[in-house]
Amino acid sequence: MANPPPIFPQNTIVLFILFCIIIGKLGPWTNALSLDFENKLRNDSESIRTASNDYGNLIHEIPSSILFPSRIDDIIQLIKSSNARSIPFTIAARGRGHSVRGQAMTRGGVVVDMTSLSKNGNRIRIGNNALGSYVDVGGEQLWIDVLHATTKHGLAPVSWTDYLYLSVGGTLSNAGISGQSFLHGPEISNVLELDVITGQGNFVTCSRNKNSELFFGVLGGLGQFGIITRARIILDKAPTRAKWVRLIYSNFSDFSRDQEHLISSNAPNYVEGILITNENTTNDWRSFFSSSSNQSEIASLLKNQGLLYAIELVKYYDNQTANNIDKEFQLMLKELNFIPQLIFSSDVSLIDFLARVGNSDNNPNGQLETHPWLNLFIPKSRISDFNAGVLVNMLPKLNDTSGLFIFYPLNKNKWDDRMSAVIPDEDIFYTLALLHTSLPKEANIFDKFNNQILRFCENAGIKVKQYLPYYKSKEEWIKHYGSKWDIFQKRKMQFDPKMILSPGQRIFNSV
Ligand code: FAD
Repeated sequence: MANPPPIFPQNTIVLFILFCIIIGKLGPWTNALSLDFENKLRNDSESIRTASNDYGNLIHEIPSSILFPSRIDDIIQLIKSSNARSIPFTIAARGRGHSVRGQAMTRGGVVVDMTSLSKNGNRIRIGNNALGSYVDVGGEQLWIDVLHATTKHGLAPVSWTDYLYLSVGGTLSNAGISGQSFLHGPEISNVLELDVITGQGNFVTCSRNKNSELFFGVLGGLGQFGIITRARIILDKAPTRAKWVRLIYSNFSDFSRDQEHLISSNAPNYVEGILITNENTTNDWRSFFSSSSNQSEIASLLKNQGLLYAIELVKYYDNQTANNIDKEFQLMLKELNFIPQLIFSSDVSLIDFLARVGNSDNNPNGQLETHPWLNLFIPKSRISDFNAGVLVNMLPKLNDTSGLFIFYPLNKNKWDDRMSAVIPDEDIFYTLALLHTSLPKEANIFDKFNNQILRFCENAGIKVKQYLPYYKSKEEWIKHYGSKWDIFQKRKMQFDPKMILSPGQRIFNSV
């Protein structure tokens, strides 16, 4: 696929408008070529700079222009104009650009800055039907805005990401996981309906029962089949508060047994885990937890064994359940085998809990840092081998004091296998997020480390799957999708046969 020169060369536009006036057929195409539309396409240096970077700051691809749509039709026109060309140009929707490996970029094509759809006011509408409450959300909207808009009405989505300054379309293109996923599934499991503009420029409303092939394809579909412009998301009554603890473990078997026990019940509302490789991790918790634990004991445990584990556990409550919350929480804790004196606890509003991770765009060092992240799903049957080989053996040697390592199990039965997201084929699997922050010149150290982990798993026969996957070759993608590859490819042929969309994923395009 060749890179496009300017999409609508000036002389073509003038000739075409003259032609239309002459034959008296000022139909829809004049819209497509209107100056209004042209004005929304920019290639100034600031727009190009933003669209050619992302949160990872590792990959930079220069687009030819950026579309700042103010309405859905702008995106339809853009996709149709690419399709109409003998050599189409590629199009990448960019939500918040919080991918880490150029997934929302295109070299020489057009980036669609989805956030500009919300310039005319936020597109978040709460509704009700026989099945219950829902919220219709523009694909460009951020989850933080969904949280504020819905809780005002005493309602909230049930499944979240840890960080909420992400777009709805961008996370639904992956899965959207957090500590609620064991109970409610990932965010993609809680979508009722979508509006999607396909790779052919068709506007399609889809759900489990209507145009279901597109619905299942798009959820977890890495932007390959269409651009999500609206998602209808399940709402439930919002609790008001969160009782929140972090419990420390030195023994991996106790830690994983307790985590798996917790996700097999519906007593907690949120279960995650964190790896503690140095004292910074628990020092950083002080801003959230009033009752802090004995740092010197943590330090000496770390000195002895290099790695500790923490379970993060939350139970929600409100005025009606406030009387029982302490009792219920104690019952839950009684069944766990953490180090008794090492417990951090807190009690915060639901909003403070869900929005606990601040906006990363406010980080003054943002431009200077890279984020060579690796996210894995690991089958439960091999989690001890993974722990021994990777977490105990390799991770402490990395000596990474600025990374955050999140580690917790999920239930497969909360995922819908018809969707495009890929997970291991076991009832329980763990997610491990190795969230390194580094200077650009040191990013290769982490990339090397990440590759070592993948090689270790390959050699040990541990069938991990990457979450937020990044591969360089088609063979790797085929292996990633496994038995889902045929349907994934078929859907691509059906909805984006010219392979226009999301080239930055490098599945069907080299860029
Ligand atoms: P972008 O990076 O803009 O886009 C990602 C992909 O989706 C691209 O291929 C793009 O073309 C496509 N896309 C974007 N918008 C649309 C649309 N409307 N329709 C179709 N395709 C589209 N993930 C979790 O699951 N849980 C977490 O807790 C979590 N925490 C995170 C914390 C941080 C600080 C960061 C940086 C990322 C985190 N992520 C998490 C990962 C995050 O969910 C993904 O990176 C997601 O893609 C980010 O959304 P975005 O809007 O920035 O997407």
